[in-house]
Amino acid sequence: MSIPTDIPLLPNHLAGRWQTGSGPGTTLLDPVLGTPLVRVDNRGLDLAEGFSFARDTGGAALRAMSYGQRAAMLGAIVKVLQANRDAYYDIATRNCGTVTKDSAVDIDGGIFTLGYYAKQGEALGEARALLDGDRIRMGKDPVFQTQHVFSPTRGVALFINAFNFPSWGLWEKAAPALLSGVPVIVKPATATAWLTQRMVADVIEAGVVPAGALSVICGSSVGLMDQLQPFDVVSFTGSAETARIIRSHPAVAQRSVRCNIEADSLNSALLDPAATEDSEAFKLLVSEVVREMTVKSGQKCTAIRRIFVPRALYQATAQAIGAKLAKCSVGNPRHENVRMGSLVSREQYDNVIAGLTHLKTEADVLFDGNSTELLDADRAVAACVAPVLLGTQDPVAAKVLHEVEVFGPVATLMPYDNEAQAYALIRRGEGSLVASVYSEDPAFMARAALELADSHGRVHVISPDVAASQTGHGNVMPMSLHGGPGRAGGGEELGGLRAMGFYHRRSAIQASTAALDALVAVAPWRT
Ligand code: NAP
Repeated sequence: MSIPTDIPLLPNHLAGRWQTGSGPGTTLLDPVLGTPLVRVDNRGLDLAEGFSFARDTGGAALRAMSYGQRAAMLGAIVKVLQANRDAYYDIATRNCGTVTKDSAVDIDGGIFTLGYYAKQGEALGEARALLDGDRIRMGKDPVFQTQHVFSPTRGVALFINAFNFPSWGLWEKAAPALLSGVPVIVKPATATAWLTQRMVADVIEAGVVPAGALSVICGSSVGLMDQLQPFDVVSFTGSAETARIIRSHPAVAQRSVRCNIEADSLNSALLDPAATEDSEAFKLLVSEVVREMTVKSGQKCTAIRRIFVPRALYQATAQAIGAKLAKCSVGNPRHENVRMGSLVSREQYDNVIAGLTHLKTEADVLFDGNSTELLDADRAVAACVAPVLLGTQDPVAAKVLHEVEVFGPVATLMPYDNEAQAYALIRRGEGSLVASVYSEDPAFMARAALELADSHGRVHVISPDVAASQTGHGNVMPMSLHGGPGRAGGGEELGGLRAMGFYHRRSAIQASTAALDALVAVAPWRT
């Protein structure tokens, strides 16, 4: 194969220096125009050297800082990223095919999350470890007690990320890791690696993180997991299929490397059984479903995939959602009238089309925007898919609809006959990231929240009084937990300072009162 030397090859940052791979690499494409942009490659890199450098040099430098100093470092990263925002938006348009407001979810969402952790971390001040709860007596004599402490792990944090959030996906993980004092090695998904690489490059060039604290490896994932040692952690975001490979890797299965998995999810929206067609709850559900289907072309792990409404409102819901979706113009994100851009690649386009075919074996098409012309884009080239609303009158008999996640602007409407059935149908997703509930009845909202809490990482409960201030079904806020049980991967991220737990080890220190008093002097902050 000839090496396409005219297409720039992005360097990797590993072992404290920029290194280019020795292979031809993979070419990243503009998903709307089909044109080549940059290449990524990591062939020939000495991974063992890079992981050791991060672990030993980066880790030591970070652990020499207090939490407060590392929080200030996050603040400095925020400033670097803010100064380069225009370049990030340009890369997102070209490589992710997103309109400006969808690029913002990724770019500004990532910067906001970093800023949040910078602020939260300030409060930890000069502490070097964190106390977990109070001292506990272990016998009659109070002189010998136990104190649980959290101390930063002396390993690296390897992030293997998904293609849909090249910015937010990096920073939502890196913020709590770096604040904890753990060096980061990120391997972005190949299709959209450019934005991650550019952001890391800007931070490195600005000199605001110690050598070895932040590394980026673009391209193949081969050999990365083999580098992991017992005190390292790996945080994976992506498909359930790859998650299985990560989980069964000897690093995790045999060396007990701590592993966090964020996988796919069939998130739900639930309308109150007492809602009517002209109720506020109905309108709120319809607006949110349309937003979720169209933001980032539905390429959000948290997007609403299944919509549950009382049977009497099935037709009205289909019409209301369809009417709003009909106004969504799809095409080239550079065109001012385009509201929804493309999927990230032609490969994802094929996956979505195949997924739709699969869902249609159990569902009817209630709305399909794909008969309308694309704006300023060639349907044969652009990875553009218009929104599709599917529906079934028999969600109990359906199987595929509760199992297959189509990662695009696609959702399925399902009627329920009673409240208990609605909860049972939602749980057929076998564990999801988020469910949203739309109601005007506080008693129903509380009941639904508790019914759904154990099978969801987050329950987003919406009533008219929070319509203007609510943060959105699919928006992951740093102060709230992100993750979900079962098929969603079983992981936990964010949730404020809770996220730091993954990057710390909890130990019980059993000692005298005097020794524990001395410990408090270096670890004054209690979780
Ligand atoms: P994917 O194909 O599983 O890829 C995810 C990452 O894993 C990529 O960086 C990929 O690298 C890497 N990878 C592939 N094979 C690997 C292997 N054998 N060992 C180690 N790493 C490997 O997933 P995706 O298609 O990028 O992402 C879409 C999925 O992610 C959706 O299902 C979505 O629901 C899920 N997602 C979940 C969340 C969440 O927070 N729960 C967030 C976003 C997305 P290459 O790109 O180089 O192949």
